Amino acid sequence: MAVKIIESCVNCFACEPVCPSNAIYEAKPHFLVDSKKCTECEGDFPVQQCASICPIEGAIVDSFGLAFNPPGSLTGIPPEKMAEAMAELQSH
Ligand code: SF4
Ligand code: SF4
Repeated sequence: MAVKIIESCVNCFACEPVCPSNAIYEAKPHFLVDSKKCTECEGDFPVQQCASICPIEGAIVDSFGLAFNPPGSLTGIPPEKMAEAMAELQSH
């Protein structure tokens, strides 16, 4: 079991120091998780510390590829409203 950091990571450094397993490391083009070290925080914390602190929706996913912080979960903006707003912006 291991989480994964994907391309939407903005390299903010927030997750690296909170990992109890030292599984997160700086890489190019974005931070990565060493899947051999990640324990999903089991035994240390009730929730995944990296996903709890990450400010970017969708940047950290579970072993099934599902985002811990799906669209709208941090901003409070419903995904369909966000899609409408983006379409509106792109039409100008
Ligand atoms: S889930 Fe826990 S152990 Fe795995 S990378 Fe995130 S903070 Fe580290
Ligand atoms: S907290 Fe999120 S955005 Fe920041 S470095 Fe970690 S994965 Fe990337």
